[in-house]
Amino acid sequence: MSYLPASDSDRLVLVTEVGTRDGFQSEPEFIPTETKAQVINALIGAGVRSFEATSFVSPRAVPQLADAAQVMALIERRPGVRLTGLVPNARGAERAAAAKVDMMASFVSASETHCRANLNKSLDAALADFSELAAIARRFGIPLRGAVATAFGCPFEGEVSIDNVLKLVGAYLEGGARHISLGDTTGMATPPVVTRTVEAIRSRFPEAIIALHFHNTRGIGLANVMNGLDLGVREFESSIGGLGGCPFAPGATGNICTEDLVYLLHECGYQTGIDLDALADVARQVQTVMGRALPGQFMRAGPRLKLSSLESVRRAVG
Ligand code: ZN
Repeated sequence: MSYLPASDSDRLVLVTEVGTRDGFQSEPEFIPTETKAQVINALIGAGVRSFEATSFVSPRAVPQLADAAQVMALIERRPGVRLTGLVPNARGAERAAAAKVDMMASFVSASETHCRANLNKSLDAALADFSELAAIARRFGIPLRGAVATAFGCPFEGEVSIDNVLKLVGAYLEGGARHISLGDTTGMATPPVVTRTVEAIRSRFPEAIIALHFHNTRGIGLANVMNGLDLGVREFESSIGGLGGCPFAPGATGNICTEDLVYLLHECGYQTGIDLDALADVARQVQTVMGRALPGQFMRAGPRLKLSSLESVRRAVG
């Protein structure tokens, strides 16, 4: 195995932008609805083709995302662009279907304690909600994605039971979700943990299409991506500028950064369909809108072969 593409047909990687959901969800100040849609529209302009655009959770639970339907309505829909809405239950699924999402993502924590903290219910109760919402997705003919939160560790329980992960994945597949996203909600993934989790899922459920969702909490988000590439995973979730966090997980910081991820993928010979310069422009605009420096690094340094003037190099020595 290698982190490099095995052949020409193996070069395509799907980058799913989650900044307007995972990133914005933890922002305390309400971000105007128009701004949320503008970020997505700008990213579509840069070639991003897949989004977890918003969440149809209870507006009382997450006021920041109470405008999910309005955001969806302001996005310039284009063929080939997939807008996913996160849905916690049947009510959310009805709202997501009315807002014409292209895909619904259900999420359940593999950790019982995190599940109760995040969804205020047991894992079994969350799975019962999933079967209800899956029935709604099927009724509307909307593809379904199953997200496993805290797939690689839980801040309250430590190691997460692989049996719980397999139970969730099995329920998702049975409910009609072919796409499974493994969420490193609190940044506890390491390459060995990811390898054993992905391999356990593949040996039991070879039909699952796995995406990886990393946070850069401990600085090894892109190392985990390299390992994911080595495992043959070809979809990753990230947020523009490295926005993000999880309001229900202590110390959780941002997602891996979309433009840093795309830079890495392109340097390794993968194709994402994304214009990296345009993407970095959007990241800088988002930084301006947020009014603070975001963790993304490519938007500051530029590509490796961007030449500097001799003057600036002299000043930089030492
Ligand atoms: Zn996340």
